[in-house]
Amino acid sequence: MTPLAVPADPVPGGRPGDVDRATALSGELSGRGVHGIVLSYVDTAGVARVKTVPTAKLASAAAWGVGMSPVFDTFLANDSIVTTDVLGSPDGDLRLYPDLDGLVVLAGQPGWAWAPVDRITQEGDRHPGCTRTFLRRIVAEAEQRHGVTFRAAVEIEWAVGQGPSASGEFVPALSGPAYGAIRQVELSDYTADLLAAFAAQGVEVDQLHPEYAAGQFEISVGALDPVAAADRSVLARQTIRAVAGRHGYVVSFAPAVFAEGVGNGGHLHLSVWRDGINLHAGGDRRYGMTAEAESFAAGVLAHLPALTAVTAPSPASYLRLKPSQWAGVFTAWGRETREAAVRIVTGTQGLREQAANLEVKPVDLAANPYLALGSVIAAGLDGVTSSAPLPEEITGDPARLEPAEAKSRGVRRLPASLAEAVAEFRGDKVLRGALGVVLADAVIAVREGEIAAVAGLDDERIAAAYRWKY
Ligand code: GLU
Ligand code: MG
Repeated sequence: MTPLAVPADPVPGGRPGDVDRATALSGELSGRGVHGIVLSYVDTAGVARVKTVPTAKLASAAAWGVGMSPVFDTFLANDSIVTTDVLGSPDGDLRLYPDLDGLVVLAGQPGWAWAPVDRITQEGDRHPGCTRTFLRRIVAEAEQRHGVTFRAAVEIEWAVGQGPSASGEFVPALSGPAYGAIRQVELSDYTADLLAAFAAQGVEVDQLHPEYAAGQFEISVGALDPVAAADRSVLARQTIRAVAGRHGYVVSFAPAVFAEGVGNGGHLHLSVWRDGINLHAGGDRRYGMTAEAESFAAGVLAHLPALTAVTAPSPASYLRLKPSQWAGVFTAWGRETREAAVRIVTGTQGLREQAANLEVKPVDLAANPYLALGSVIAAGLDGVTSSAPLPEEITGDPARLEPAEAKSRGVRRLPASLAEAVAEFRGDKVLRGALGVVLADAVIAVREGEIAAVAGLDDERIAAAYRWKY
């Protein structure tokens, strides 16, 4: 059997070799002044949640996991709890197992290391609500059924504010122009420390730049397999926040820090590979795509209205998802088109075999990255399975198309509210099937809970309600 590019499921007693490895690691970490390990996962609402253990307990965590209630699968961003047929009950316990391959000493938080977790039941079964397990499964099935692997990266945009955030207001920590040298100088010490922290953590940074909105910066990181890319996205945000705190700043990854204007995106970059060959380059279809890469893009486009319930999961996401704000709110694709939901990135001549990929824009950082990557991959593979044809390319801003022309060219506005997105998600059997009943129900219940939580609030209040949650 072909070895899978994804980590194995945890088992009671520990994955083979893990306990010895964790025992050695905990000695080494203690010697480096690491007192505790942050065990990280992301809930259905997109909030990063943790437990921590002292470094001396790492081997025990690798063997038997650390307990946590399944109730967190139906937490809302405001920490209230909704229920589904099987989730949200105060009963039961899950075991959180650190993935030792993902363990990193945190450069921005001296004394701490960090590891992503998978969750299994006390009986040793996969927990169907575990989003990291979901993404591992999707990637493993893609390899088994289609013989493909992926490379992925999540872009991170965030707003840097003057601390503390206790007032709830956001006051930008910088004043220079968008993409401006002034901004770079204003946050010189913070961003230099950030680059040092990323380097110390072994995170390959491609670029760091001042962005457009008030206080906004962006970082892009190198592509990895999807599970590692999702882990890295969570780790990167923990680092960005921790280093900011040491400089007296607060950060917001919320989709809309304010109700109006450009928001924080979390664009996904994804490429499909077979036998070491990038299917988005060197093919005989448009822009060097192979037939499969075109069908993959077509699958993503076809499922995008439903996908937004996963990739734009917060009521605040829809303050960002507006036309002509670079968030990609139309089911259209184009080469290097910043307003199409799917941007075909060919890379520069000479780099294409490595660099060509597909960027999905209607994704923000309220999205659970494991759910988002797994769902987008499932959508793309549905296109591959049915050899879906990729429609005609759209150039320019799709917002300028007259309704009749948009319709004839298959260009649809993505959901303009979370309620519309949930309705699309309910109707998408492929996506719900890929998630499985428990996870799909959790997504619906949590989204409906978020909708109810902001009922009657105006846009400014909605932005404020989620400003400091992600
Ligand atoms: N801030 C934009 C968004 O919300 C993206 C800007 C860019 O293209 O980098 O998606
Ligand atoms: Mg950007």
